[in-house]
Amino acid sequence: VFQLSVPLNFLGSVYRELKQSLLDMESLFNLQKHNITIKSKPDAPPLNMHGGEIKFENVTFGYHPDRPILRNCSFTIPAGQKVAIVGPSGSGKSTILRLVFRFYDVSEGRILIDGQDIRDVDLESLRKHVGVVPQDTPLFNDTILENLRYGNLNASDEEVMSVIEKVKLDKLVTDLPDGVETIVGERGMMISGGEKQRLAIGRLLLKDSPITFFDEATSALDTHTEQALLKTIRSVFRESNKTNVSIAHRLRTIADSDKIIVLRNGEVLEEGTHYGLLDRETSLYKELWNIQEHLDLEGELAQEEEKAE
Ligand code: ATP
Repeated sequence: VFQLSVPLNFLGSVYRELKQSLLDMESLFNLQKHNITIKSKPDAPPLNMHGGEIKFENVTFGYHPDRPILRNCSFTIPAGQKVAIVGPSGSGKSTILRLVFRFYDVSEGRILIDGQDIRDVDLESLRKHVGVVPQDTPLFNDTILENLRYGNLNASDEEVMSVIEKVKLDKLVTDLPDGVETIVGERGMMISGGEKQRLAIGRLLLKDSPITFFDEATSALDTHTEQALLKTIRSVFRESNKTNVSIAHRLRTIADSDKIIVLRNGEVLEEGTHYGLLDRETSLYKELWNIQEHLDLEGELAQEEEKAE
């Protein structure tokens, strides 16, 4: 029995690792849409993390050589800070995230994490250190418990349960007849967009990576759900010393960031704090802020009118 169990255990751990790295990629990218050709250099050392500073130095990149999406972008996301990337649709925000994950290599310039060019480090170790809450979270036809455990296949049931509480999925779970053993996903129970994102945040907490990205969904969530979700994320990350990057569409949710980077047409147009950017005589941030506040106000007034009728 002993002789048999050793190779089986070994296979088990290989299988787990394989599943884990596939998952890391799947959670970020729709694999069919992206062409995966990037490989580690031979004998590339693992990423040596000490803080989690991300630096873009004169980065130019396009999915097709004749159509640059990012142009000569330089910015720093300091270690341990909460930074937001904002800008009009199509300005290149999600592309930044894909480049940090090294799904593509830059055409010009370089990306450094804690001083190391990401092209020079082992790819798997790079991806292990970067966690993502994607716009659309893939669910597997499995229980809620196992879906969460995909964040870290070595997590114990207790660890997963404590995360369920942290991301406030406990209410949903107690309401279900099978609790955490409920099967979700395409062939199981459907859960809402907000619940999916909570699940993704839970996975991220279990992964416990020093750098985390939150790619806010453009649509789907209503304002109320979204506010509650963001409150959860913020409370979860506030005390951590992790580098936290939010790609945001709604400026209200990122106003308290340590730094806001504003992109336009693939260029860094301006950066600063919320009040710093609003105080400028002119800034794109100020324009976007005024438009959104105006729309929010209209929305709130319309809701009040509806209630009054
Ligand atoms: P949004 O706010 O709408 O999510 P974004 O600022 O995140 O937009 P990106 O997703 O980075 O923008 O896309 C920037 C540009 O790159 C867009 O014009 C998009 O069509 C293009 N693009 C994105 N992914 C690919 C791809 N795989 N192949 C070719 N072009 C792409």
